Amino acid sequence: MKVIVVGSSHGGYEAVRELLMDEPDTEIQWYEKGDFISFLSCGMQLYLEGYVKNVNDVSYATPEEMRSKGVSVFVEQEITAIDPDKRTVHVINHQDGTERDETYDKLILSPGAVPATLPVEGTDLENVYAMRGRDWAIKLKQKTVDPDVRNVVIVGAGYIGIEAAEVFANAGMNVTVIDVLPRMLDTYLDEEFTDILTKEMENNNVQAAPGQNIQRFEGKDGKVSKVVTDQGTYDADLVVVAAGIKPNTKWLGDTLELTSGGLIQIDDYLQTSVPDIYAIGDATLVKFAPTDGKETRIALASNARRQGRFAAKNALGYKKAMPSVSGSSALSLFDYNFASTGIKEGTAETYGVETMSTLVTDSYRPPFVPEKHGNAEVYFKLTYDPNTTRILGGQIMSREDVTQNINVISLAIQEKLTLEDLAYADFFFQPDFDRPWSILNVGAQQALRDVE
Ligand code: FAD
Repeated sequence: MKVIVVGSSHGGYEAVRELLMDEPDTEIQWYEKGDFISFLSCGMQLYLEGYVKNVNDVSYATPEEMRSKGVSVFVEQEITAIDPDKRTVHVINHQDGTERDETYDKLILSPGAVPATLPVEGTDLENVYAMRGRDWAIKLKQKTVDPDVRNVVIVGAGYIGIEAAEVFANAGMNVTVIDVLPRMLDTYLDEEFTDILTKEMENNNVQAAPGQNIQRFEGKDGKVSKVVTDQGTYDADLVVVAAGIKPNTKWLGDTLELTSGGLIQIDDYLQTSVPDIYAIGDATLVKFAPTDGKETRIALASNARRQGRFAAKNALGYKKAMPSVSGSSALSLFDYNFASTGIKEGTAETYGVETMSTLVTDSYRPPFVPEKHGNAEVYFKLTYDPNTTRILGGQIMSREDVTQNINVISLAIQEKLTLEDLAYADFFFQPDFDRPWSILNVGAQQALRDVE
């Protein structure tokens, strides 16, 4: 069987890996239109802050490694069209300008997404950057040591914008983060958390400018110099736009069914509207566990990876439905670590779900453990259905790293557990790591009192 995999980031890489694990004799052709395979934007901050020295290390595979496993790797070769009747893809080789058709038995598409551009004047000015992929990583790295860059404006206060803000603040620059939403990290955390994080940003030379609409970027000598919003004007030597993504799917519109937003329609088996063509990753929707599998958009590597596995299995003929996901993610921001999963108060309405939430704070370890020996306050918010007490979401934050707790909540959502299940669930206690009652127990016990 010959399987063609398009795209070499998280989704594509994982599909290739699964094909190799399940049926190593599969003939695999792996295509990447860029000049580098398997760059992981998730690791970009570690490179920009100097923890990883070589940009090429921010990847999971090299063409040589994959070729040694029998995979035919094609770099700088773009798939531009599919002919489902003939079962061929059209390939443009950007290295030598040649074109050809390749046949497939099964096709797995992980074309991902590109940063969205804002519909305003000035986006083509010099020093208006994005943050995704290896090329932008290299350009951004140069700016972290550019003496001409003093003022950096980040557009978008989601995870990517916040990572960019931290990078440039740590590089000693004045940073402003602008977002149209009323709070920083609004889609990930509720107000109790973002209030603390916004203060933390301000303490670290990052100014928060929420609730503002970008009007235009102004320039001087072709370079960006100001960002104008409906509420103010900000000096800028560099602008990083991290205001969403758009799927890389224009070339597929004539072949596959796409949503109005250009995402590829897939079923539970990752199959597109055309037999033997599967799609995964940021160019698709996922099924959301808290709403019993309703489709939603959650662009995460963790989702792309899971889908890659299931698409490969289905392409090989094992019929395996992709499980729903909870949308779990984690990040650090200066001294704080936080994670969230599922639904929160701020997103409940969007999902059309009735919720109630309980916030508890506790110390990470027993109170006798001094702060300097690794003790800090933990904030945990549990969101649940007030009628059934089914757990729907969780958020956690501390100066200590307590983020892994959120994986338990993710599983609880997936398994449809209730507050009663979580309140007395058996979790270990050891004063080096936690308290006699896990913060998860404490949150669920308090929530049970709140719903009564
Ligand atoms: P992409 O990563 O978009 O890759 C698609 C690849 O396909 C690209 O290399 C592209 O060049 C290639 N391609 C596209 N079309 C064609 C074609 N026609 N022919 C050949 N090649 C093609 N997620 C997390 O879960 N955790 C994190 O910590 C995290 N951090 C992130 C940090 C940053 C800065 C960014 C930008 C993203 C982060 N993400 C994180 C999100 C994560 O990177 C994406 O969800 C993931 O990369 C999606 O993988 P993908 O395979 O769908 O697509």
